[in-house]
Amino acid sequence: MKKLALHWQILLGMLTGVLLGVLLSYTSFGPNFIKDWIKPFGTIFINLLKLIAMPLILASLIKGVSDLKDISKLSKMGGRTIGIYLCTTILAVVLGLVLVNTIKPGNNIKEETREELMLAYEEGASAKRAVAQQQREAGPLQPLVDIVPSNIFEATTNNRNMLQVIFFAVFFGIGLILIPQDKAAPVKAFFDAFNEVILKLIDLIMLAAPYGVFALLAALVVESPSLDLFQALGMYAITLLIGLALMIVVYIVLVKIFTGRSPSFFMNGIAPAQLLAFSTSSSAATLPVTMERVEEHLGVDEEVASFVLPIGATINMDGTSVYQAVAAVFIAQAFGLDLTLGTQLGIILTATLASIGAAAVPGAGMVMLVIVLGQAGIPEAGLALIFAIDRPLDMCRTITNVTGDAAVSMMVAHSFGKLKEEPHEKKWDDNYPTKG
Ligand code: ASP
Repeated sequence: MKKLALHWQILLGMLTGVLLGVLLSYTSFGPNFIKDWIKPFGTIFINLLKLIAMPLILASLIKGVSDLKDISKLSKMGGRTIGIYLCTTILAVVLGLVLVNTIKPGNNIKEETREELMLAYEEGASAKRAVAQQQREAGPLQPLVDIVPSNIFEATTNNRNMLQVIFFAVFFGIGLILIPQDKAAPVKAFFDAFNEVILKLIDLIMLAAPYGVFALLAALVVESPSLDLFQALGMYAITLLIGLALMIVVYIVLVKIFTGRSPSFFMNGIAPAQLLAFSTSSSAATLPVTMERVEEHLGVDEEVASFVLPIGATINMDGTSVYQAVAAVFIAQAFGLDLTLGTQLGIILTATLASIGAAAVPGAGMVMLVIVLGQAGIPEAGLALIFAIDRPLDMCRTITNVTGDAAVSMMVAHSFGKLKEEPHEKKWDDNYPTKG
């Protein structure tokens, strides 16, 4: 019998997880059973993905940069990558603003619903505000200072420090380019082989993906708030989902225009990473799989993927950008505030910076939203309004974040003649393990 393609297996895992969660939440023992006996497997799966994120970035970026052979090529690729990332991010914020101003989801929130939500979620919201406060208290150049680690070993001990590790890896790669080739060769060979091992580990971890997402979603269902809240915040959720979906359409169009690859080729190639992004709510945890898919199935040369994707996972979050625009204006509408054009233009700037600054982990977008709200003079307490349904929406915006990175990597690769030809046009039946 033909084996089911990976993304179908993952989808099946997700569906059975949701089903089990829904069924067991009607029993008295179910929620605890899932928490004690099923959720831990989901946690193990996420841990495995996070476990290899740092070594992967180190090995693949050092190898990628040193393969570039000259510094001017590196700066060209860096400039192009960051330029495209910035354009898609600004486009995402503008799209979010247009949608939320057209649909006006906040105008439908009843006074009593608003008060209920504020009361129920004040605690969670104030925890997010406290984290945001710490970030805000730092000076304006602090984000820049934060990129440069003072100790690389310390930097690699926390997945939130991905930008620091990226900085080190690029710096180290530059050093490798600048020393004589015969001296650099053994170091490059080491990282090359190291990288291969990590890729093999990703293959192995992905064998467990269907079970991992099953456990994650079952746990999520029994821990999620009631459906009533979804209804109250339905228009807000729908507005955001439309924005996130439209961004994916934008990527499909961009990929078609700039690389000539068909929508089905692009979507088939990236689907498992999208499903994982949805299940883990973290671009960082999904990164190993995004890299594998982009290299093995979308034909992006390793040299480009290993440079563009880790940077994208940390700074390019278009789903988060749409979210920040929609959420900020939604809260303002719910409080009956009229935002001037100037304020909305300000949101474009702050939301762009906030999405760049957001860590690639669950819930990070909401912390940075506090900063957008503060800048626009929208009550930060409004965070409590959207808190209840933030997790499912976080799952969805992470899909857009990951898809955006993949699309940009294809565009950059194509512009450098590093997008492989059609043999990579694998269809839906491709399976893991992918490497021999
Ligand atoms: N969870 C998102 C990500 O990892 C960030 C966010 O909270 O918007 O991409």
